[in-house]
Amino acid sequence: MYPDTQLFIAGEWTNGSDGETLAVLNPATGGEIGRVAKATATDMDRALASAAKAFEQWRKTTASDRAKLLHAAADNLRARIDEIAPVLTMEQGKPLAEARSELRNADDVIRWFAEEAIRSYGRIIPARKPGVQQMVMKEPIGVVAAFTPWNYPVAQAIRKICAALAAGCTVILKAAEEAPASCAAMVRAFADAGFPDGAINLLYGIPSEISEYLIPHPVIRKVSFTGSTPVGKHLTALAGAHMKRVTMELGGHAPYIVCADADLSSAVSMLAGHKFHNAGQVCIAPTRVLVEEPVFDNVLEDFVNAAKAVKVGDGLSDGIDMGPMANARRLDAMDRLIGDAVAKGGRLLTGGNRIGNAGFFFEPTVLADVPQDAAIMNEEPFGPVAVVNRFAAVDAAIAEANRLPFGLAAYAFTRSQRHAQRFAEDIETGMLSINDYGLAYAEVPFNGVKDSGYGSEGGPEALETFQTIKFVSQTNL
Ligand code: NAD
Repeated sequence: MYPDTQLFIAGEWTNGSDGETLAVLNPATGGEIGRVAKATATDMDRALASAAKAFEQWRKTTASDRAKLLHAAADNLRARIDEIAPVLTMEQGKPLAEARSELRNADDVIRWFAEEAIRSYGRIIPARKPGVQQMVMKEPIGVVAAFTPWNYPVAQAIRKICAALAAGCTVILKAAEEAPASCAAMVRAFADAGFPDGAINLLYGIPSEISEYLIPHPVIRKVSFTGSTPVGKHLTALAGAHMKRVTMELGGHAPYIVCADADLSSAVSMLAGHKFHNAGQVCIAPTRVLVEEPVFDNVLEDFVNAAKAVKVGDGLSDGIDMGPMANARRLDAMDRLIGDAVAKGGRLLTGGNRIGNAGFFFEPTVLADVPQDAAIMNEEPFGPVAVVNRFAAVDAAIAEANRLPFGLAAYAFTRSQRHAQRFAEDIETGMLSINDYGLAYAEVPFNGVKDSGYGSEGGPEALETFQTIKFVSQTNL
């Protein structure tokens, strides 16, 4: 049932030039379910040449023709959701309903960028002399090297591919080796739509080998990476040394502030719903839940009960709310972070343990009153664990929200317009949702500040990251 995955280079599905492959594991069992082809330097050279050649054609393709092809890719993907979703669950672990939702969102993202492609306008600047025209033109930046992780193997890749293609760029995508087949199925939806050979290339292999080969290569003009902050900093430095533009979507450690005057039941139900989504392996997941003193006990009790009610199991089974973690590294991280929090005086209210010995299952976990020097208060846990701490005044909640070098997502719940305004003005974050979990739609910016990276992955700003500005002054003779 689970397909092996090939590379896609110059419009052809192919094995790596030396035939080597890597194992793909099912996180629900820990067992190998398939293999993914491993790219060599020869494969990368072919991908670079084909992307460069396709760029010459694609940059001249009209925006409306680009949009038509993007819509055709979306049609293909939508028609295949039921076929791809179980593959995504088998390789990544998420419940089938979440896999379907990831694919439906991908369809939505493709269509939004298809529409945006035709609305990317330049401008005319009034000249200082008669007979002069001054134009600002937006042009595609060139061939893009995109690197995407395993937590949303389709969704992370689709944002980069669509914004790049809509802008007129061609792409070499290095997707996640740990969950390769769903992303390859998504690329197939594009290939079958009739994009020019080389407009999208798909590679898998040793991530550091591929990034260190592609990023300095003269064909590559833009690097887009989603993953951890340390890797993002490393790739940004490499790109900087070769004057390549970057978009970096890196780690987060989202504060989730609940004021005493908030709608507490919606604050808690959104918290439980989103904290355990994708087993907590979400860069915008709430991590530090900061609750105002008078309502702390109630919020904590309700959240612990909600965490206890989460049904954990194989994502292919019925009635499952949360699947396994995607890999064994996350299990080790959970053990270390939770053990350290408890050793430093934090209270463990539910969870804290691995479930069974097969697969990478972990209990939904709630910690409370964890001191600031605990590792979990400083490192992104990227798993099904939240810390619930108390605050006495809004100033203290904002100070705690801003204490870390991260600044990706933040959430706040309050009925006070004054508090809401303070949060909007003073929390150092790329995205803030007040009284809702309203982030990550195709049409809105998706970006971090500080160590969480820069460059948007949503909204018109995402398209602009793949465009250069050309100023043309023309004097009529
Ligand atoms: P990691 O830092 O080794 O890898 C993260 C991603 O970067 C993976 O997809 C990996 O293939 C890729 N990568 C690693 N080194 C690379 C290199 N030199 N060149 C190109 N790509 C490279 O760690 P991990 O164990 O996979 O995940 C650990 C942490 O990464 C998580 O705790 C989380 O903080 C972060 N992460 C963030 C996101 C996100 O959506 N922002 C997604 C996945 C992981």
